[in-house]
Amino acid sequence: MNDNDGIAIPPFRQTLDDHDIELVRGRTTTLQINVGLLCNQTCLHCHLEAGPGRREIMDLDTMEAVIDYAGRCDFDIIDITGGAPEMNPHITRLVEGVASLAARVIFRCNLTSIAGGGREGLLELLRSNGIAIIASLPALNAKQTDSQRGEHVFEKSLEAIERLNRLGYGEPGTGLELDIVSNPAGAFLPPAQKEMEERFREVMQRKWGLHFSNLFNFANVPLGRFRRWLEKRGALDSYYGKLVSGFNPCATDGVMCRTLVTVDWDGYLYDCDFNIAVGLHMGGERVHVSEMAGPPEPGSPIATADHCYTCTAGVGFT
Ligand code: SF4
Repeated sequence: MNDNDGIAIPPFRQTLDDHDIELVRGRTTTLQINVGLLCNQTCLHCHLEAGPGRREIMDLDTMEAVIDYAGRCDFDIIDITGGAPEMNPHITRLVEGVASLAARVIFRCNLTSIAGGGREGLLELLRSNGIAIIASLPALNAKQTDSQRGEHVFEKSLEAIERLNRLGYGEPGTGLELDIVSNPAGAFLPPAQKEMEERFREVMQRKWGLHFSNLFNFANVPLGRFRRWLEKRGALDSYYGKLVSGFNPCATDGVMCRTLVTVDWDGYLYDCDFNIAVGLHMGGERVHVSEMAGPPEPGSPIATADHCYTCTAGVGFT
């Protein structure tokens, strides 16, 4: 047992050892780029504590270093995230720079920001390059969504999806992917993804005539703002208890850190976006993207901590 800020849970590393699991990299196929913590929302579950007051954003020099790195590698997927990446003033340069460097490019955005005024040029850039959009919509009602993401977010999110649908996003046959991310509004794990996707699809079509491509159902990671929210309610121990008791050894095969590397706004590398929240650099080493000749080598170590239980509970977080 260890002491994780007062929580007695078996260390994640120990659990891996007990199951004879070696968590190391395979072939790194995905470059995730976090362009900064600036966001127009202050969502309760945000492990990076992004928000309107954050000043940590990727500058142009770092962006060029990231584009060069992507050009030196042969990633299958490039995944742009934040904060709200659309709020980074240099975002179009990044999108233009990486659009042709991977078969699949993903833009994770905040619906209320991407569809607000002044984003027409960026939306056209995404559309014309066939870049997939992944956006959060935690629930099918205003009460639950707004309590997690802020006042009027639900209403504005539906308007945004309508606008994206009009551009062809999420519409069958266009090849323009619009994926929805749903996450629980409280201290519990998400329900089964398939059923959730079917329900979202049926309700969104019937009530509002809206469409999307896929739904991903993610558990909240007990870090950052969500961790504090749990602590305030005295629910951190029980939440960790659910994650630990849901540990599924098979889920460790598919955790994203085996195939993904994340570059943070300052150009330093991590095994995933969650590790950014606790300053846990890639494999435990502080390496800048400009120092990397290529993708991390297969077999290289992955830095883990107890929040990794989020990725291995139930079917996992891949
Ligand atoms: S939190 Fe990150 S490092 Fe840990 S298992 Fe999940 S993806 Fe891997």
